[in-house]
Amino acid sequence: MASLKLEHIKKAYDKNVVVVHDFNLEIKDKEFIVFVGPSGCGKSTTLRMIAGLEDITDGTLMIGDRVVNDVEPKDRDIAMVFQNYALYPHITVYENLAFSLRLRKMNNEEVHRRVCQAAEILGITEYLGRKPKALSGGQRQRVAIGRAIVREPQVFLMDEPLSNLDAKLRNQMRAEIILLRKRIDTTFIYVTHDQTEAMTLGDRIVIMKDGYIQQVGTPQEVFETPKNLFVAGFIGSPQMNFLKARLVKEGAGYAVELYGIRIPLSAEKCERLAARGVGSREVVLGVRPEHTQLRFEREEQSIEATLRVNEMMGSELHLHADLEDGTSVILRIPTLDLSENQRADLRYGNRLRFSFPEKVVQLFDPETEESLLF
Ligand code: ADP
Ligand code: MG
Repeated sequence: MASLKLEHIKKAYDKNVVVVHDFNLEIKDKEFIVFVGPSGCGKSTTLRMIAGLEDITDGTLMIGDRVVNDVEPKDRDIAMVFQNYALYPHITVYENLAFSLRLRKMNNEEVHRRVCQAAEILGITEYLGRKPKALSGGQRQRVAIGRAIVREPQVFLMDEPLSNLDAKLRNQMRAEIILLRKRIDTTFIYVTHDQTEAMTLGDRIVIMKDGYIQQVGTPQEVFETPKNLFVAGFIGSPQMNFLKARLVKEGAGYAVELYGIRIPLSAEKCERLAARGVGSREVVLGVRPEHTQLRFEREEQSIEATLRVNEMMGSELHLHADLEDGTSVILRIPTLDLSENQRADLRYGNRLRFSFPEKVVQLFDPETEESLLF
């Protein structure tokens, strides 16, 4: 069993410098968990505490039903893959893979079995006789992952394993990690600053900022119901638009008003707001660029903006526009939804109108930055 439990985990390098605060998380056996957040938010530190490479200042770390705070890294039954894959340059790929097994005095037959199996899983069998310098970046990274696989660990830790690869290779290796996970059915904890990696790889995502967990959830949960402004802005690309709006309570219902339009809220949203005892107030309305629509009929309820930049992305346009008060918005519009004339009109300085359905609206408290709908 390789479930993990982190209870009130804290890391302080110094009395006054706490870099991980009260981290609480239960990871299920065979779950793929991703820690994601901006650089410096404490992802690597947390992972290194799990690996045993860093002391835990406070709290309890359990692997299975064993408390491992004071267990040596080598006795935790985990393997870690790092960003800078640090292969031994003077020995072959085969010996790089075999290295940790030989250290453990494993017999040659078993070493051979494990090395061949890992090489097979990663598609590097034909390179086993080469030295690392004769490999591409992607191949080297596979060897680095192979060194972890041969140990057949209960828990796989990966710290930004794809950050050193170029964009194309990164996409390819991301897909390979999904396949790898299917083939070696074990618990994974994966660290990245890249929200796309987090969304595509994780069964659940742990979003961190400044040493605090902001939200834990499935990719769909954190995308559809972000708990606060930070999560809303961090997940999704281009970033969610945030607009000043006024929430108006009328009887049992609510509506939001912004830039001359009025959107009555659904019964579901009204219930949540009522349950929180929210009254009429200023709010931040969040709407994702891909959830906006251009409007060409004057009478429709829509917001006017002035186009600043029209980025042609192929299948869609990214329109950067300014509202009357100078607030910037980004709209993502499928190219095929527009006629030739409509597209030709999307030029710098021209006016456009857009709207969005009630269903996609997020509402936040401008002071606390918490979602009012969570
Ligand atoms: P991430 O992996 O999310 O980018 P880290 O876990 O590496 O972040 O770092 C979290 C914070 O801890 C950062 O502010 C970093 O400067 C600090 N930190 C990391 N290692 C040490 C150390 N050995 N001594 C003091 N501070 C450190
Ligand atoms: Mg890091």
